[in-house]
Amino acid sequence: MRVVYWFRNDLRLTDNVGLSSAIANSSEVIPVYIINKSLFTSKLGVPRMGPHRMRFLLESLQDLQNGLREIGSELMVLVGDPSYAIPKITSEFEAEMVFCSSSQGTEEALILKKIRENIPVSEISDGYLLDPNNLPFNSADLPNVFTQFRIQIEKNLNIPQPIPRIQHIQTPPLSRCDVPTMEQLGLAAPVPHPKRIDDFRGGEHAGWIRLQHYCSSPERLGRYKETRNGLIGEYSSRFSAWLSIGAISARSIMKVVKEYEAVHGANDGSYWMFFELLWRDYFRLVCDKYGAKMFLRGGLKDKPSGDLNMSKFQSWCKGETACDFVNANMIELSSTGWMSNRGRQNVASFLVHEMGVDWRLGAAWFESMLVDFDVANNYGNWLYLAGVGNDPRPNRRFNTALQQAQYDPKSEYTNRWVEQK
Ligand SMILES: Cc1cc2nc3c(=O)[nH]c(=O)nc-3n(C[C@H](O)[C@H](O)[C@H](O)COP(=O)(O)OP(=O)(O)OC[C@H]3O[C@@H](n4cnc5c(N)ncnc54)[C@H](O)[C@@H]3O)c2cc1C
Repeated sequence: MRVVYWFRNDLRLTDNVGLSSAIANSSEVIPVYIINKSLFTSKLGVPRMGPHRMRFLLESLQDLQNGLREIGSELMVLVGDPSYAIPKITSEFEAEMVFCSSSQGTEEALILKKIRENIPVSEISDGYLLDPNNLPFNSADLPNVFTQFRIQIEKNLNIPQPIPRIQHIQTPPLSRCDVPTMEQLGLAAPVPHPKRIDDFRGGEHAGWIRLQHYCSSPERLGRYKETRNGLIGEYSSRFSAWLSIGAISARSIMKVVKEYEAVHGANDGSYWMFFELLWRDYFRLVCDKYGAKMFLRGGLKDKPSGDLNMSKFQSWCKGETACDFVNANMIELSSTGWMSNRGRQNVASFLVHEMGVDWRLGAAWFESMLVDFDVANNYGNWLYLAGVGNDPRPNRRFNTALQQAQYDPKSEYTNRWVEQK
Protein backbone atom coordinates (compact mmCIF):
# COMPACT_ATOMS: atom_id res chain seq x y z
CA MET A 1 0.00 0.00 0.00
CA ARG A 2 1.27 3.50 -0.85
CA VAL A 3 0.70 6.14 1.84
CA VAL A 4 1.38 9.82 2.43
CA TYR A 5 3.22 10.74 5.61
CA TRP A 6 2.14 14.23 6.60
CA PHE A 7 4.75 15.80 8.91
CA ARG A 8 3.26 18.22 11.43
CA ASN A 9 5.07 19.09 14.68
CA ASP A 10 7.37 16.07 14.40
CA LEU A 11 10.21 17.28 12.18
CA ARG A 12 12.64 14.50 13.11
CA LEU A 13 13.80 11.02 12.16
CA THR A 14 14.76 9.81 15.66
CA ASP A 15 11.89 8.71 17.92
CA ASN A 16 9.31 9.44 15.27
CA VAL A 17 6.49 7.03 16.14
CA GLY A 18 4.14 8.32 13.44
CA LEU A 19 6.61 7.94 10.58
CA SER A 20 7.76 4.53 11.87
CA SER A 21 4.15 3.39 11.90
CA ALA A 22 3.61 4.65 8.33
CA ILE A 23 6.69 2.71 7.18
CA ALA A 24 5.64 -0.45 9.02
CA ASN A 25 2.14 -0.41 7.53
CA SER A 26 2.90 0.39 3.90
CA SER A 27 5.08 -0.52 0.95
CA GLU A 28 5.81 3.10 -0.11
CA VAL A 29 5.74 6.38 1.81
CA ILE A 30 5.52 9.91 0.39
CA PRO A 31 6.84 12.35 3.04
CA VAL A 32 5.09 15.73 2.86
CA TYR A 33 5.08 19.00 4.77
CA ILE A 34 2.58 21.76 4.06
CA ILE A 35 3.48 25.30 5.13
CA ASN A 36 -0.01 26.33 6.15
CA LYS A 37 -0.94 29.48 4.27
CA SER A 38 -3.02 30.62 7.26
CA LEU A 39 0.33 31.36 8.93
CA PHE A 40 0.54 34.39 6.64
CA THR A 41 -2.69 35.86 8.02
CA SER A 42 -3.22 37.57 11.36
CA LYS A 43 -5.04 36.79 14.59
CA LEU A 44 -6.58 39.66 16.62
CA GLY A 45 -4.60 41.97 14.33
CA VAL A 46 -1.27 40.24 15.06
CA PRO A 47 0.64 38.46 12.25
CA ARG A 48 0.47 34.76 13.06
CA MET A 49 4.05 33.86 12.32
CA GLY A 50 6.84 36.37 12.73
CA PRO A 51 10.27 36.18 11.08
CA HIS A 52 12.16 34.38 13.89
CA ARG A 53 9.71 31.51 14.00
CA MET A 54 9.52 31.22 10.23
CA ARG A 55 13.31 31.13 9.92
CA PHE A 56 13.47 28.38 12.53
CA LEU A 57 10.75 26.38 10.74
CA LEU A 58 12.45 26.66 7.33
CA GLU A 59 15.81 25.59 8.77
CA SER A 60 14.12 22.64 10.46
CA LEU A 61 12.47 21.60 7.19
CA GLN A 62 15.79 21.87 5.36
CA ASP A 63 17.46 19.66 7.96
CA LEU A 64 14.65 17.10 7.73
CA GLN A 65 14.82 17.13 3.95
CA ASN A 66 18.61 16.58 4.07
CA GLY A 67 18.08 13.68 6.49
CA LEU A 68 15.44 12.09 4.25
CA ARG A 69 17.61 12.51 1.16
CA GLU A 70 20.49 10.77 2.96
CA ILE A 71 18.30 7.68 3.32
CA GLY A 72 17.11 7.75 -0.28
CA SER A 73 13.83 9.59 0.24
CA GLU A 74 12.61 13.15 -0.24
CA LEU A 75 10.45 15.72 1.55
CA MET A 76 7.81 17.43 -0.54
CA VAL A 77 7.37 20.94 0.83
CA LEU A 78 4.37 22.91 -0.39
CA VAL A 79 2.61 26.10 0.68
CA GLY A 80 -1.17 25.87 0.95
CA ASP A 81 -4.14 24.77 2.98
CA PRO A 82 -3.41 21.23 4.24
CA SER A 83 -7.09 20.30 4.12
CA TYR A 84 -6.96 20.65 0.30
CA ALA A 85 -3.29 19.99 -0.35
CA ILE A 86 -3.11 16.60 1.39
CA PRO A 87 -6.10 15.02 -0.44
CA LYS A 88 -4.74 16.49 -3.71
CA ILE A 89 -1.36 14.81 -3.20
CA THR A 90 -2.92 11.48 -2.20
CA SER A 91 -5.03 11.48 -5.36
CA GLU A 92 -2.12 12.59 -7.60
CA PHE A 93 0.12 9.81 -6.27
CA GLU A 94 -2.67 7.27 -5.85
CA ALA A 95 -1.95 6.90 -2.16
CA GLU A 96 -4.52 4.97 -0.17
CA MET A 97 -4.03 6.49 3.24
CA VAL A 98 -2.49 9.34 5.22
CA PHE A 99 -0.41 8.85 8.35
CA CYS A 100 0.45 11.74 10.65
CA SER A 101 1.39 12.50 14.22
CA SER A 102 -1.09 14.07 16.63
CA SER A 103 -1.10 17.82 17.03
CA GLN A 104 -2.80 20.16 19.49
CA GLY A 105 -5.19 23.02 18.83
CA THR A 106 -8.73 23.36 17.50
CA GLU A 107 -7.70 24.64 14.05
CA GLU A 108 -5.41 21.64 13.60
CA ALA A 109 -8.29 19.31 14.57
CA LEU A 110 -10.59 20.97 12.04
CA ILE A 111 -8.04 20.53 9.24
CA LEU A 112 -7.69 16.86 10.09
CA LYS A 113 -11.48 16.44 10.12
CA LYS A 114 -11.70 17.91 6.60
CA ILE A 115 -8.92 15.64 5.30
CA ARG A 116 -10.72 12.63 6.78
CA GLU A 117 -13.76 13.45 4.64
CA ASN A 118 -11.64 12.57 1.61
CA ILE A 119 -9.19 9.90 2.69
CA PRO A 120 -8.58 7.61 5.70
CA VAL A 121 -6.10 9.05 8.20
CA SER A 122 -4.16 7.28 10.92
CA GLU A 123 -3.21 9.88 13.54
CA ILE A 124 -0.49 8.60 15.88
CA SER A 125 -0.11 10.08 19.33
CA ASP A 126 3.14 12.04 19.52
CA GLY A 127 5.04 14.66 21.46
CA TYR A 128 4.34 13.56 25.04
CA LEU A 129 6.92 12.40 27.56
CA LEU A 130 4.43 10.01 29.15
CA ASP A 131 2.22 7.58 27.30
CA PRO A 132 -1.14 9.41 27.19
CA ASN A 133 -2.90 6.05 26.74
CA ASN A 134 -1.43 4.70 29.94
CA LEU A 135 -2.20 7.34 32.58
CA PRO A 136 -3.82 6.61 35.96
CA PHE A 137 -6.89 8.67 34.91
CA ASN A 138 -9.03 9.35 31.82
CA SER A 139 -8.48 12.58 29.91
CA ALA A 140 -11.73 14.01 31.38
CA ASP A 141 -10.51 13.27 34.93
CA LEU A 142 -7.11 14.97 34.55
CA PRO A 143 -6.49 16.74 37.89
CA ASN A 144 -7.00 20.49 37.61
CA VAL A 145 -3.93 21.19 39.74
CA PHE A 146 -0.45 20.28 38.51
CA THR A 147 0.82 19.00 41.88
CA GLN A 148 -2.03 16.48 42.12
CA PHE A 149 -1.22 15.33 38.59
CA ARG A 150 2.50 15.01 39.35
CA ILE A 151 1.96 13.02 42.55
CA GLN A 152 -0.27 10.52 40.75
CA ILE A 153 2.19 10.19 37.86
CA GLU A 154 5.23 9.74 40.10
CA LYS A 155 3.58 6.90 42.05
CA ASN A 156 4.07 4.62 39.08
CA LEU A 157 6.35 6.43 36.67
CA ASN A 158 6.62 4.87 33.25
CA ILE A 159 8.32 6.83 30.47
CA PRO A 160 8.43 5.00 27.11
CA GLN A 161 11.88 4.66 25.56
CA PRO A 162 12.49 6.65 22.37
CA ILE A 163 12.54 4.54 19.22
CA PRO A 164 15.69 4.37 17.05
CA ARG A 165 16.38 6.67 14.12
CA ILE A 166 14.75 5.68 10.83
CA GLN A 167 17.32 4.17 8.47
CA HIS A 168 15.37 3.61 5.29
CA ILE A 169 12.14 4.69 3.62
CA GLN A 170 10.81 3.22 0.42
CA THR A 171 9.61 6.25 -1.54
CA PRO A 172 8.22 6.32 -5.10
CA PRO A 173 10.18 8.51 -7.55
CA LEU A 174 9.57 12.14 -6.53
CA SER A 175 10.96 15.23 -8.19
CA ARG A 176 13.25 17.41 -6.06
CA CYS A 177 11.25 19.93 -4.11
CA ASP A 178 13.40 22.55 -2.40
CA VAL A 179 12.38 24.24 0.84
CA PRO A 180 11.37 27.84 0.05
CA THR A 181 13.49 30.71 1.35
CA MET A 182 12.16 33.55 3.49
CA GLU A 183 12.42 35.81 0.46
CA GLN A 184 10.40 33.41 -1.71
CA LEU A 185 7.71 33.52 0.96
CA GLY A 186 7.74 37.31 0.82
CA LEU A 187 9.33 37.73 4.24
CA ALA A 188 12.49 39.57 5.25
CA ALA A 189 15.03 37.28 6.93
CA PRO A 190 15.70 38.46 10.51
CA VAL A 191 19.15 39.90 11.14
CA PRO A 192 20.92 38.07 14.02
CA HIS A 193 21.01 40.45 16.98
CA PRO A 194 24.48 40.96 18.53
CA LYS A 195 23.05 40.54 22.06
CA ARG A 196 21.15 37.29 21.36
CA ILE A 197 21.85 34.41 23.76
CA ASP A 198 21.72 31.74 21.04
CA ASP A 199 21.43 31.41 17.28
CA PHE A 200 18.59 28.88 17.66
CA ARG A 201 19.50 27.04 14.48
CA GLY A 202 16.52 24.97 13.42
CA GLY A 203 16.52 21.23 12.81
CA GLU A 204 17.04 17.89 14.48
CA HIS A 205 20.80 18.01 14.01
CA ALA A 206 21.17 21.35 15.84
CA GLY A 207 18.68 20.18 18.50
CA TRP A 208 20.82 17.14 19.29
CA ILE A 209 23.97 19.27 19.48
CA ARG A 210 22.20 21.49 22.01
CA LEU A 211 20.89 18.48 23.96
CA GLN A 212 24.30 16.79 24.17
CA HIS A 213 26.00 20.07 25.08
CA TYR A 214 23.59 20.97 27.88
CA CYS A 215 23.54 17.48 29.36
CA SER A 216 27.28 16.88 29.17
CA SER A 217 28.32 18.92 32.18
CA PRO A 218 27.37 19.18 35.85
CA GLU A 219 27.92 22.93 35.35
CA ARG A 220 24.83 23.07 33.16
CA LEU A 221 22.25 20.31 33.79
CA GLY A 222 23.63 19.67 37.28
CA ARG A 223 22.97 23.30 38.25
CA TYR A 224 19.75 23.71 36.28
CA LYS A 225 17.52 24.14 39.31
CA GLU A 226 19.70 27.00 40.63
CA THR A 227 20.13 28.79 37.30
CA ARG A 228 16.75 28.33 35.61
CA ASN A 229 15.39 31.70 36.73
CA GLY A 230 18.26 33.59 35.12
CA LEU A 231 18.00 36.24 32.43
CA ILE A 232 21.44 36.39 30.80
CA GLY A 233 23.66 33.57 29.52
CA GLU A 234 23.19 29.83 29.72
CA TYR A 235 20.63 29.77 32.53
CA SER A 236 18.32 27.12 31.02
CA SER A 237 18.32 24.36 28.43
CA ARG A 238 16.54 26.15 25.52
CA PHE A 239 15.21 22.73 24.48
CA SER A 240 11.78 24.33 23.99
CA ALA A 241 12.71 25.64 20.53
CA TRP A 242 13.41 22.16 19.14
CA LEU A 243 10.61 20.57 21.15
CA SER A 244 8.07 23.03 19.76
CA ILE A 245 8.58 21.80 16.23
CA GLY A 246 9.32 18.21 17.19
CA ALA A 247 12.95 18.34 16.07
CA ILE A 248 13.78 16.52 19.29
CA SER A 249 11.39 14.55 21.47
CA ALA A 250 10.83 14.84 25.22
CA ARG A 251 11.61 11.09 25.51
CA SER A 252 14.97 11.55 23.81
CA ILE A 253 15.73 14.36 26.27
CA MET A 254 14.86 12.14 29.23
CA LYS A 255 17.04 9.35 27.85
CA VAL A 256 20.01 11.73 27.68
CA VAL A 257 19.20 13.05 31.18
CA LYS A 258 19.26 9.44 32.46
CA GLU A 259 22.63 8.89 30.75
CA TYR A 260 23.89 12.03 32.50
CA GLU A 261 22.65 10.66 35.84
CA ALA A 262 24.41 7.35 35.21
CA VAL A 263 27.74 9.22 34.89
CA HIS A 264 27.37 12.17 37.27
CA GLY A 265 24.64 10.97 39.63
CA ALA A 266 21.08 12.24 39.93
CA ASN A 267 20.65 15.60 41.66
CA ASP A 268 18.17 18.47 41.95
CA GLY A 269 19.21 19.75 38.53
CA SER A 270 18.51 16.53 36.64
CA TYR A 271 15.28 15.92 38.59
CA TRP A 272 14.06 19.45 37.84
CA MET A 273 14.49 18.92 34.12
CA PHE A 274 12.07 15.99 34.42
CA PHE A 275 9.78 18.15 36.58
CA GLU A 276 9.59 20.87 33.91
CA LEU A 277 9.04 18.36 31.11
CA LEU A 278 6.17 17.06 33.20
CA TRP A 279 4.70 20.59 33.21
CA ARG A 280 4.92 20.48 29.43
CA ASP A 281 2.98 17.18 29.33
CA TYR A 282 0.50 18.59 31.79
CA PHE A 283 -0.36 21.56 29.55
CA ARG A 284 -0.70 19.21 26.58
CA LEU A 285 -3.17 17.11 28.54
CA VAL A 286 -5.03 20.24 29.71
CA CYS A 287 -5.32 21.22 26.04
CA ASP A 288 -6.68 17.75 25.20
CA LYS A 289 -9.19 18.00 28.05
CA TYR A 290 -10.48 21.55 27.47
CA GLY A 291 -10.15 21.95 23.67
CA ALA A 292 -11.63 25.24 22.42
CA LYS A 293 -11.92 26.69 25.96
CA MET A 294 -8.15 27.18 25.96
CA PHE A 295 -8.57 30.01 23.47
CA LEU A 296 -11.59 31.81 24.93
CA ARG A 297 -11.27 35.11 26.77
CA GLY A 298 -12.86 33.62 29.90
CA GLY A 299 -10.54 30.61 29.70
CA LEU A 300 -11.25 27.46 31.68
CA LYS A 301 -13.11 29.43 34.35
CA ASP A 302 -15.53 31.36 32.12
CA LYS A 303 -14.27 34.53 33.76
CA PRO A 304 -13.61 37.15 31.05
CA SER A 305 -11.39 40.10 31.93
CA GLY A 306 -9.18 42.64 30.19
CA ASP A 307 -9.88 44.79 27.14
CA LEU A 308 -8.78 44.64 23.53
CA ASN A 309 -6.98 47.95 24.05
CA MET A 310 -4.70 48.11 21.02
CA SER A 311 -2.72 51.20 21.99
CA LYS A 312 -1.77 49.75 25.39
CA PHE A 313 -1.02 46.44 23.71
CA GLN A 314 1.23 48.12 21.13
CA SER A 315 3.22 49.91 23.83
CA TRP A 316 3.74 46.55 25.57
CA CYS A 317 4.87 44.87 22.30
CA LYS A 318 7.34 47.66 21.56
CA GLY A 319 8.75 47.71 25.09
CA GLU A 320 7.42 51.19 25.80
CA THR A 321 5.56 50.64 29.07
CA ALA A 322 6.15 52.37 32.41
CA CYS A 323 8.31 49.44 33.58
CA ASP A 324 11.81 49.06 32.15
CA PHE A 325 12.17 45.46 33.36
CA VAL A 326 9.13 44.57 31.24
CA ASN A 327 10.44 46.71 28.35
CA ALA A 328 13.80 44.93 28.37
CA ASN A 329 12.13 41.54 28.06
CA MET A 330 9.83 42.73 25.29
CA ILE A 331 12.74 44.20 23.33
CA GLU A 332 14.70 40.96 23.69
CA LEU A 333 11.66 39.07 22.37
CA SER A 334 11.12 41.17 19.25
CA SER A 335 14.86 41.41 18.54
CA THR A 336 15.66 37.70 18.93
CA GLY A 337 12.48 35.58 19.17
CA TRP A 338 13.43 34.52 22.71
CA MET A 339 12.58 35.43 26.31
CA SER A 340 13.38 33.61 29.56
CA ASN A 341 10.67 31.92 31.61
CA ARG A 342 11.08 34.54 34.36
CA GLY A 343 10.64 37.27 31.76
CA ARG A 344 7.56 35.60 30.24
CA GLN A 345 5.86 35.39 33.63
CA ASN A 346 6.54 39.04 34.41
CA VAL A 347 5.51 40.53 31.08
CA ALA A 348 2.35 38.41 30.96
CA SER A 349 1.35 39.42 34.48
CA PHE A 350 2.09 43.07 33.68
CA LEU A 351 -0.04 43.11 30.51
CA VAL A 352 -3.00 41.45 32.17
CA HIS A 353 -2.95 42.71 35.75
CA GLU A 354 -1.29 46.15 35.49
CA MET A 355 -2.37 47.25 32.01
CA GLY A 356 -5.79 45.53 32.03
CA VAL A 357 -5.37 44.12 28.51
CA ASP A 358 -7.08 40.95 27.25
CA TRP A 359 -4.61 38.07 27.74
CA ARG A 360 -5.35 36.70 24.24
CA LEU A 361 -3.52 39.64 22.66
CA GLY A 362 -0.41 38.81 24.65
CA ALA A 363 -0.71 35.15 23.69
CA ALA A 364 -1.08 36.12 20.02
CA TRP A 365 2.08 38.26 20.22
CA PHE A 366 4.04 35.39 21.78
CA GLU A 367 2.65 33.07 19.10
CA SER A 368 3.98 35.38 16.43
CA MET A 369 7.35 36.10 18.00
CA LEU A 370 8.58 33.14 20.05
CA VAL A 371 10.96 30.81 18.30
CA ASP A 372 9.61 28.07 20.61
CA PHE A 373 5.89 28.80 20.21
CA ASP A 374 3.87 25.79 21.27
CA VAL A 375 0.06 25.85 21.37
CA ALA A 376 -0.44 24.01 24.66
CA ASN A 377 2.48 25.60 26.52
CA ASN A 378 1.73 29.10 25.35
CA TYR A 379 -2.01 29.13 25.89
CA GLY A 380 -1.77 27.01 29.06
CA ASN A 381 0.74 29.40 30.61
CA TRP A 382 -1.15 32.52 29.54
CA LEU A 383 -4.40 31.19 31.02
CA TYR A 384 -2.52 30.37 34.20
CA LEU A 385 -1.01 33.86 34.48
CA ALA A 386 -4.30 35.55 33.59
CA GLY A 387 -6.06 33.73 36.44
CA VAL A 388 -8.40 31.80 34.13
CA GLY A 389 -6.45 28.55 33.87
CA ASN A 390 -5.14 25.76 36.09
CA ASP A 391 -3.83 27.83 38.95
CA PRO A 392 -4.94 27.00 42.48
CA ARG A 393 -4.00 30.58 43.49
CA PRO A 394 -6.81 33.05 42.67
CA ASN A 395 -4.51 35.85 41.43
CA ARG A 396 -0.98 35.22 40.16
CA ARG A 397 0.06 38.86 40.01
CA PHE A 398 3.78 39.56 39.87
CA ASN A 399 5.25 42.63 41.55
CA THR A 400 7.66 43.53 38.74
CA ALA A 401 9.68 45.93 40.92
CA LEU A 402 10.30 43.17 43.48
CA GLN A 403 10.98 40.67 40.69
CA GLN A 404 13.56 42.98 39.16
CA ALA A 405 15.17 43.52 42.57
CA GLN A 406 15.43 39.75 43.06
CA TYR A 407 16.37 38.56 39.57
CA ASP A 408 18.11 41.60 38.08
CA PRO A 409 19.44 43.41 41.18
CA LYS A 410 22.12 45.37 39.31
CA SER A 411 19.84 46.06 36.34
CA GLU A 412 22.38 44.31 34.14
CA TYR A 413 19.69 42.62 32.11
CA THR A 414 17.41 45.66 31.95
CA ASN A 415 20.22 47.95 30.81
CA ARG A 416 21.41 45.41 28.27
CA TRP A 417 18.15 45.72 26.31
CA VAL A 418 16.64 49.06 27.22
CA GLU A 419 19.84 51.03 26.58
CA GLN A 420 20.00 49.87 22.97
CA LYS A 421 16.83 51.79 22.04
C1 LIG B 1 3.21 33.48 29.35
C2 LIG B 1 4.07 32.29 29.01
C3 LIG B 1 4.08 31.80 27.70
C4 LIG B 1 4.85 30.66 27.39
N1 LIG B 1 4.87 30.21 26.08
C5 LIG B 1 5.57 29.09 25.78
C6 LIG B 1 5.59 28.59 24.45
O1 LIG B 1 4.96 29.10 23.52
N2 LIG B 1 6.36 27.48 24.21
C7 LIG B 1 7.05 26.84 25.21
O2 LIG B 1 7.71 25.84 24.93
N3 LIG B 1 7.02 27.30 26.46
C8 LIG B 1 6.32 28.40 26.79
N4 LIG B 1 6.32 28.86 28.08
C9 LIG B 1 6.95 28.05 29.15
C10 LIG B 1 8.41 28.35 29.45
O3 LIG B 1 8.60 29.71 29.62
C11 LIG B 1 9.34 27.83 28.36
O4 LIG B 1 9.07 26.47 28.08
C12 LIG B 1 10.81 27.92 28.78
O5 LIG B 1 11.13 29.23 29.16
C13 LIG B 1 11.66 27.50 27.62
O6 LIG B 1 13.02 27.64 27.93
P1 LIG B 1 13.93 26.36 28.13
O7 LIG B 1 13.72 25.36 27.07
O8 LIG B 1 15.32 26.85 28.34
O9 LIG B 1 13.31 25.78 29.46
P2 LIG B 1 13.95 24.94 30.65
O10 LIG B 1 13.81 25.78 31.86
O11 LIG B 1 15.29 24.45 30.32
O12 LIG B 1 12.92 23.74 30.79
C14 LIG B 1 13.05 22.52 30.06
C15 LIG B 1 11.77 22.26 29.33
O13 LIG B 1 10.69 22.12 30.24
C16 LIG B 1 9.50 22.66 29.67
N5 LIG B 1 9.04 23.80 30.49
C17 LIG B 1 9.77 24.64 31.23
N6 LIG B 1 8.97 25.55 31.83
C18 LIG B 1 7.71 25.27 31.44
C19 LIG B 1 6.43 25.85 31.72
N7 LIG B 1 6.27 26.92 32.50
N8 LIG B 1 5.35 25.31 31.12
C20 LIG B 1 5.47 24.22 30.33
N9 LIG B 1 6.63 23.64 30.04
C21 LIG B 1 7.74 24.15 30.58
C22 LIG B 1 9.86 23.15 28.28
O14 LIG B 1 9.55 22.15 27.35
C23 LIG B 1 11.35 23.38 28.39
O15 LIG B 1 12.02 23.29 27.14
C24 LIG B 1 5.59 30.01 28.41
C25 LIG B 1 5.58 30.54 29.71
C26 LIG B 1 4.84 31.66 29.99
C27 LIG B 1 4.86 32.18 31.40
